[in-house]
Amino acid sequence: MIEYDCHVHSSFSSDSKTEPEKQVQKAIELGMKGICFTDHMDYEFPNEERSGLSFIFDPDEYFKAMIPLKNSYSDRIGINIGVEIGLRNEEECRERVKSDYEKLTGAYGFDFVIGSTHCLEFTDPYYEDPYWTGKSVSEGIRTYLEAVLYNARKYDFDSLGHLDYLVRYVPESKGWNISDYRPSDHFDIIDEILKELIDSGRALEVNSAGLKYGLGFAHPQPGILSRYRELGGELITIGSDGHKPEHICYAFGDVAEILKGLGFRYYTVYKARHPEMIKIR
Ligand SMILES: [Zn+2]
Ligand SMILES: [Zn+2]
Repeated sequence: MIEYDCHVHSSFSSDSKTEPEKQVQKAIELGMKGICFTDHMDYEFPNEERSGLSFIFDPDEYFKAMIPLKNSYSDRIGINIGVEIGLRNEEECRERVKSDYEKLTGAYGFDFVIGSTHCLEFTDPYYEDPYWTGKSVSEGIRTYLEAVLYNARKYDFDSLGHLDYLVRYVPESKGWNISDYRPSDHFDIIDEILKELIDSGRALEVNSAGLKYGLGFAHPQPGILSRYRELGGELITIGSDGHKPEHICYAFGDVAEILKGLGFRYYTVYKARHPEMIKIR
């Protein structure tokens, strides 16, 4: 059993309408010991006009809402206050974005920072055009993984979010099926990403949204988790990436089985940006 969901969104994320308290109530109903809010902060999100979403929140307002919530529920559930930052590798914006994230995490007392690569080449690969235009599936995946590697080396965060989630967005027009996905084709890059996390004492996230999307695995695919363990990786954070109450702890029973099956005995929860190991029961 896993008793903490460490990737939870609320209405502070532009793609969620759920009041933070609703997420807390659902987690209590599920018997959880704690959750960590990790609302989206994607500085310079390139598709703001196209999506109508900015993926930016006001950190003053965020803490003003989260601290009283945390205090009022402290006898029922632990609430940690984190953020999911959208990392960027494009030369034209990376220095500015990095410095903005450093200012944010320096000024506010976040418990946990997830570093996720959502956008590259000035677009969100969720959109087929332009990211996938003229790229084979393999090129699309490798280009993304190279961006993740660059970002893992460049940015300060605690856990690397949904490492291979790009595979969700391979467009149907490519005639590709998720069963064609072989992480081992990309182990040259993936190993570098995993080694970077291990050498710097940072965690890898297991994100159960892959199961919610019907991919048949959580992100990253178990072959990558197994590789992480082989290379000496121990720090795993677990999150549902839930944007609605019904997503909280999504398929955590399956995640526990996957991790135990690979030999992991603990997962990690961050508080004040320090890791605490918790036994998978
Ligand atoms: Zn994300
Ligand atoms: Zn998320």
